Amino acid sequence: MDILMEEVFIEQIIIYGSVLILCAITIYFYVRNKKVISKETEKKVAIAKEEGLFEPISLHPYIDLNMCIGSAACIEDCPEKDIIGIANGKATVINTSNCIGHGACFHGCPVEAISLRIGTETRGVDLPHVNEIFETNTKGVYIAGELGGMGLIKNSVEQGKQAVENIIKSKKVKVPNVIDIGIIGAGPAGISATLAAKKHGLTSVTLEQDSLGGTVYTFPRQKIVMTAPMDLPLYGKVKLYETSKDELLKLWEKVIKAHDIEIKENTKAENINLLNNNTFKITTNKGEEYICNNILLAIGRRGSPRKLNIPGENSMKVAYRLIESERIKNKKIMVVGGGDSAIETVLLLKDTNNVTLSYRKDKFSRLKPKNREKIMGAIEKNTIQVLLNSNLTSINDTSVLVNFGENKPPKIVDNDLVYIFAGGELPTAFLQKAGVEITKRFGYIMKKHK
Ligand SMILES: Cc1cc2nc3c(=O)[nH]c(=O)nc-3n(C[C@H](O)[C@H](O)[C@H](O)COP(=O)(O)OP(=O)(O)OC[C@H]3O[C@@H](n4cnc5c(N)ncnc54)[C@H](O)[C@@H]3O)c2cc1C
Repeated sequence: MDILMEEVFIEQIIIYGSVLILCAITIYFYVRNKKVISKETEKKVAIAKEEGLFEPISLHPYIDLNMCIGSAACIEDCPEKDIIGIANGKATVINTSNCIGHGACFHGCPVEAISLRIGTETRGVDLPHVNEIFETNTKGVYIAGELGGMGLIKNSVEQGKQAVENIIKSKKVKVPNVIDIGIIGAGPAGISATLAAKKHGLTSVTLEQDSLGGTVYTFPRQKIVMTAPMDLPLYGKVKLYETSKDELLKLWEKVIKAHDIEIKENTKAENINLLNNNTFKITTNKGEEYICNNILLAIGRRGSPRKLNIPGENSMKVAYRLIESERIKNKKIMVVGGGDSAIETVLLLKDTNNVTLSYRKDKFSRLKPKNREKIMGAIEKNTIQVLLNSNLTSINDTSVLVNFGENKPPKIVDNDLVYIFAGGELPTAFLQKAGVEITKRFGYIMKKHK
């Protein structure tokens, strides 16, 4: 009996001991894994700070550390890479300046520890004054979409539609021979507003400085994520949670065509003036004028690229951003500029094309360290040509003319494509000219769980 008990006792010790050892091993690996993840995240944060990617540019997640349980759901849901990581068991932001205000992290957090903010305590962001019906301080001028601070395709579509409904509710008296709404910008907000205007029988004109689709058209990647269905006027519910940029653009084009709507692409609204009879005159870069009873600004927050204003610049071979670089091969390309966008474009194109960079200064300054290192490497290996102290003076069908200042001979460079990165004009000045008041917001909360 004693021997039997002893055997049972030993057996139990072995079982419990094994379980304890297994638990200890699991805990050890769990803790070690957490430490490794923490270290990796801390390293990424340090690099982000060094490269100037840590500070947010626009809408971004703010994590309440007292509420965060480190579930990592926000990381899984974010379609971008390394915006958020886990350090010491809690979520932390990394490359915040790459955040596109998608808000998937905000929706994904199981404990509502994330709010979406614009600006930080030290870095303010200009936000126009809009009331709950999207009207600005100037009566008859409305704002929809990302310009008002709220990003995402679905939100912009919803705001475009609601802004038009609010214009109808405002019951501003119609003026004969005057367009009911002048819509500026044909991104998600402007497209939706245009469709809503048609649906409600209003006359409208939509001006787009670039191409239909707005920021969506310029996405460097195909994948688009929408956290909820969007309600597109004249179409209904669009239940595309994960789609491609092409599919979404095609859908918009189809609805616009089906309803015989014209969107004036490559037409930039340059000025909006209030006239004596409380209507507005929009003047475009093409010298056209439109008199409108109401204005809807759906111009996003990315502004307009600055032009060089040289002969040939309006040719089809000139672009102000790079889209789908992998499709561009065996071309003679001139990239103009010396900032990170120009350098990143050169780096993306140089392996499959013959790339020349023209920069007006004698050296690069304020580049991200990684870009500096890569561009210097490319110059050393002669995989690109760099023309410093140079200015493009004209663009022709098969070449460009580059000037190097007085007493130096100009150079004709064979060319198929030109990319210009000469900075941008922010929408702020345009808005102020239109009489819209703007305030700098520091860490303003755009969306918070209730
Ligand atoms: C890389 C990237 C990826 C993204 N991915 C997603 C995603 O997967 N899902 C999602 O929901 N959101 C995503 N977003 C955010 C989304 O694209 C924006 O929130 C949305 O496009 C905002 O729509 P909008 O109509 O307000 O402005 P925009 O799309 O920016 O459109 C504004 C338009 O106005 C035009 N314009 C400006 N000034 C003038 C002028 N003076 N005259 C005429 N036209 C003018 C511009 O050319 C532009 O076409 C992403 C953003 C980026 C940058």
